[in-house]
Amino acid sequence: MPVTAFPLRVKSPGGCFRKRPGGRASVRETEEGMMAREPYYAPVSPLAAGLSCTCPRCGRGKLFKGFLTLAPACDSCGLDYGFADSGDGPAVFVVLLAGFVVVALAFWVEVTYEPPLWVHAVLWIPTILIVSLGMLRPLKAFMVAMQYHHDASEGRLDRGS
Ligand SMILES: [Zn+2]
Repeated sequence: MPVTAFPLRVKSPGGCFRKRPGGRASVRETEEGMMAREPYYAPVSPLAAGLSCTCPRCGRGKLFKGFLTLAPACDSCGLDYGFADSGDGPAVFVVLLAGFVVVALAFWVEVTYEPPLWVHAVLWIPTILIVSLGMLRPLKAFMVAMQYHHDASEGRLDRGS
């Protein structure tokens, strides 16, 4: 873990802090009333983090520990991936995108060549598998990166505390 990954605690200097464009304040108040300054990381494009399946904060650590299982934390900057919950999102986009592409191709082949049915089975079953499985990982990584980028999480009640 690099030295910069440790949160630097400083006494409250007073004044207000503007939020970063990413939506997360760079300074947050801790339980003890102290200010914890979070280490600064150069912005990582969610698209780049998604395509490379890397950490949405530092862009270096691995995001997955299995095919679709998230690692508990980034092995480079230590970001806890506990916030990440993409739910059914990646599967929905895979169904919509892969379905659109494969069904359109199947229609085109049928209308153009009128092949026997087994040709369709041979063509499209492997295509669907390859396209779906190939898209799941980067799409999940992209959605986790978008979730981090926009600081999105489940709805919570604001109890005014
Ligand atoms: Zn990281």
